Amino acid sequence: MYNFQSKPTVLSRAEWGARSRSKTPRQRDGVRYLVVHHCAGNNNTIENTSEQARMREIQRIHMDDNGWSDIAYNFGVGKGGTIMEGLEIDYAMKAAGGSNNNYYAIHINCHGNFEEKLFDWSQKSALIDLLAYLCSRYGLSESAIIGHYNMSSSACPGQAIKDAIPSIRTNVKVRLNGASPY
Ligand SMILES: [Zn+2]
Repeated sequence: MYNFQSKPTVLSRAEWGARSRSKTPRQRDGVRYLVVHHCAGNNNTIENTSEQARMREIQRIHMDDNGWSDIAYNFGVGKGGTIMEGLEIDYAMKAAGGSNNNYYAIHINCHGNFEEKLFDWSQKSALIDLLAYLCSRYGLSESAIIGHYNMSSSACPGQAIKDAIPSIRTNVKVRLNGASPY
């Protein structure tokens, strides 16, 4: 059994100003994967927007442009490392990773385009805190942590995060097994 990992601070939907979902999504079947995404798109736009406003914009795109019932990601990690609640955790949407495995996955979106920018420690450490907590809560090992590209054909979550996934897994493994976190 793994060491318990406390839940990091997560801004609620109300705190970032989420809209209500348009219909109830499907319940998740279980949790086998923790899937990391990025936004892609224009980094300057993201840098000039607050983390909460970025969450609202992603939800707007998913609902108004894509016609989905809510933001497809279960969590967002803002440019400064603020963790925010997205689609409520017991629900899943096929759209998030384009695969039926989505019904066994929790999706986490790191704000930024990591084909073009580095993965700063403030954001990376927040992601590690969240992943360690989710592994502990669902009894998963660090091998459950994957990138979107492992699930379906995609460049997501960008080169800088792809390159970081082995060290993220190592950090989570160390925490689950009880040594000092970093
Ligand atoms: Zn993705």
